Amino acid sequence: MQQVLVLNASYEPLNVTTLRRAHVLVFKGKAEVIEELNRPLRSASSTYRWPHVIRLVHYVRVPRAIQRKISRRALFARDGWRCVYCGTTAGRLTLDHVTPRSKGGESIWENVVTACAPCNHRKGNRTLKEANMELRFLPKPPAPTLFIQLSTPKIPTGWKQYLPDLAAA
Ligand SMILES: [Zn+2]
Repeated sequence: MQQVLVLNASYEPLNVTTLRRAHVLVFKGKAEVIEELNRPLRSASSTYRWPHVIRLVHYVRVPRAIQRKISRRALFARDGWRCVYCGTTAGRLTLDHVTPRSKGGESIWENVVTACAPCNHRKGNRTLKEANMELRFLPKPPAPTLFIQLSTPKIPTGWKQYLPDLAAA
């Protein structure tokens, strides 16, 4: 297990880091080990606890401005791998700007959605109103848990209690 779950000082999940980075954070006193694995972490001269979940000592603010970059994988996962317009999970999924870029729509989580290719084509370069289409839900930035899920093939059991909004996958 080379991945370590990082919690904010408030115990909110932040991200996943490498064993090495986690160990450095703990070693420098910037984080504490909340869960450890029952095996020693050996360096040339010492033995340490093997961190599994760590918590930052000082709360870090995660400003909206530096929110995670939008990737298709994260976007589709946020939207449950279904089209936000018609709800289909079949066919090719695409990234759609709710307010088209040509009309000033930004590439931000609040303005991008998962759309099936036919819906994307039907909407074209129009706004929702112009296209007479509706969103099934309002797009918003995904919770950190989503990125944690995407960054690891399988969520370790020892992490689960710290990930309350873990989607049943
Ligand atoms: Zn659709």
